[in-house]
Amino acid sequence: MISDSFHRQITYLRVSVTDRCNLRCVYCLPEDYAVSGDKKEILTYEELTELIHCFAELGFSRIRITGGEPLVRHGITQLVSAFAETPGIKDLAMSTNGLLLEKYAGDLAKAGLKRINISLDSINPEKFSRITRYGRIESVLRGIYAAAQHGINPVKLNVVVVRGVNSDEIGDFCELTAKLPIHVRFIELMPMGETGFFSEEKRVPYQEMLNLAAPLIPLEKRDWPEGGGPAHYFKRPGAVGTIGFISALSCNFCDNCNRVRLSSKGVLVPCLDGWMGVPLGEMLRKGGTKEEIKTEILKTIENKPQKHFMVERAKEELHHPSPRFMCSIGG
Ligand code: SAM
Repeated sequence: MISDSFHRQITYLRVSVTDRCNLRCVYCLPEDYAVSGDKKEILTYEELTELIHCFAELGFSRIRITGGEPLVRHGITQLVSAFAETPGIKDLAMSTNGLLLEKYAGDLAKAGLKRINISLDSINPEKFSRITRYGRIESVLRGIYAAAQHGINPVKLNVVVVRGVNSDEIGDFCELTAKLPIHVRFIELMPMGETGFFSEEKRVPYQEMLNLAAPLIPLEKRDWPEGGGPAHYFKRPGAVGTIGFISALSCNFCDNCNRVRLSSKGVLVPCLDGWMGVPLGEMLRKGGTKEEIKTEILKTIENKPQKHFMVERAKEELHHPSPRFMCSIGG
């Protein structure tokens, strides 16, 4: 098992397989966002799989495929199979906006995808289109249904809460868990990239989200839905599903961080709040051996920062936006 210099065990890799996305959610990407750089820099499935083998040999056991939007990458189920078949990988999940999920859910399940997180920020069709800039909620709802039908479990819904946009829907999302076996997670808005969207006023802190979601019963960890993330879970009395909260700014959870991130170009990034990383993809293309790559992974983990600085950055973000987007680091 690998530990960093703060004695955290790092076993979880989030892999962004593309920077492209078929939505432009207002808090995530600018409307005119275009993927930069040469297409050839994006690692092939063979290259990504070679890197995953290095991580698995070092003791990584969990992978989440993310993006951009992973389902826009051609032949994605092929990559899911390759990751699922990698010795040592016990848990394979995906984050998606769900637009193309109806089409792929069956093949993803067959390929070995166990769990899925679907972003859904509003259950009001018009508001959903406004937040995503042009998404159609019907496609996402059909995707959620298809995932459940094909036995992908748990299905979690990720809701980024924004004051004045969807904070009035917290109660409605909680209601969904009354009869449906889904897990709704409310995510605190983070300062991220040059969207010009973030402001302290738009961020709804953890305690306020909790109040808006009441009544809630805290759940023991053993009753939480499967996953390795930072959410804390609750339940409405008598509900089938659960309600989780991910509050990176209100409740810094870095002490329990267990993850690093690999970009679609093969850059290994040790913290969500950092965009500098180690170019493992480039090393691989230059003929780096497995042992050399594994040594770089260990060094990067050794240097993983103790904590993120989003609280400090939140104050600065309006004047000095960070030069990166969530879709290149995978969320
Ligand atoms: N396209 C996939 C999806 O929609 O889940 C995966 C990539 S997306 C960047 C991953 C997650 O990051 C989504 O749940 C999204 O809502 C979240 N996200 C993006 N920008 C964010 C921000 N500024 N604050 C909080 N969460 C954000």
